[in-house]
Amino acid sequence: MCIRDRLKKLLQEKGFIFDARYPDVVITVGGDGTLINAFHRYENQVDSVRFIGIHTGHLGFYTDWRNYDIEKMVDALAVTKGEPAKYPLLEIKMLTESGETHYHLAVNESAVKRVSHTLVADVYINDQLFENFRGDGLCVSTPTGSTAYGKSLGGAVIHPRLKALQMTEIASINNRVFRTLSSPIVIAPDQWISIVPNADHFVMTVDGARIDVRNAKKIEYRISRHSIQFDQFGHHHFWSRVQNAFIGDNEKND
Ligand code: NAP
Repeated sequence: MCIRDRLKKLLQEKGFIFDARYPDVVITVGGDGTLINAFHRYENQVDSVRFIGIHTGHLGFYTDWRNYDIEKMVDALAVTKGEPAKYPLLEIKMLTESGETHYHLAVNESAVKRVSHTLVADVYINDQLFENFRGDGLCVSTPTGSTAYGKSLGGAVIHPRLKALQMTEIASINNRVFRTLSSPIVIAPDQWISIVPNADHFVMTVDGARIDVRNAKKIEYRISRHSIQFDQFGHHHFWSRVQNAFIGDNEKND
């Protein structure tokens, strides 16, 4: 029997009702990518949904339980009534030249990039011009995303209980003529970052999904008033996860 069917059977035995349209709890089986996809499927109900991840051999940074643990997970779900862990989400507001506004929500990050030719953009913090950027792109990530793309771009790993956003550069051009800060920046909960591109087309990603953007006037990034909720009964020690995912077993390295 596959994990999904075994899980369904165990949950039914405990009296849980299966409701794919309006669930209280969404359980994913896979890796972080699977959990991110599930988040986007239910992002309109994010205030009422809690997520639990079972991982099946991927990195599984945000997936708490291993496939051989599912009996324990179902038992814990049946008895636990504790508060879920709530982690910040990124709100992306894109204003177009024709006056439209498009909103997106990200668990990990959103990047603006050009695949060929330099991305030229002005970066504002709140409404104050911060820098003129030239390079491949910019990435704004949540603390949750700080262990994903943001980390590969040299960003700091940020504990997801902190309400903050981090902007990292992607291959910025720095010389006598063009200059950026060249370091990741972390902004406070009441601040926002605006990117005003000087390009009529570029790519924007939202949690890795590609959106081809034309005629964007401005993209604003701020912490959403919504959060993603994870059931707390798993192994939620953040720094142990970081160690486990990126450093490995210290004993073995001796
Ligand atoms: P993907 O192939 O689904 O994921 C790429 C890798 O990132 C997988 O190993 C995934 O873990 C891991 N990952 C995802 N979210 C994570 C998190 N919050 N902390 C630690 N690791 C995490 O790629 P995708 O569908 O294109 O994009 C999904 C996400 O992957 C993006 O939001 C981005 O952050 C990340 N990504 C990173 C890079 C990079 O570092 N250069 C490149 C592409 C994508 P699982 O194996 O458990 O799914």
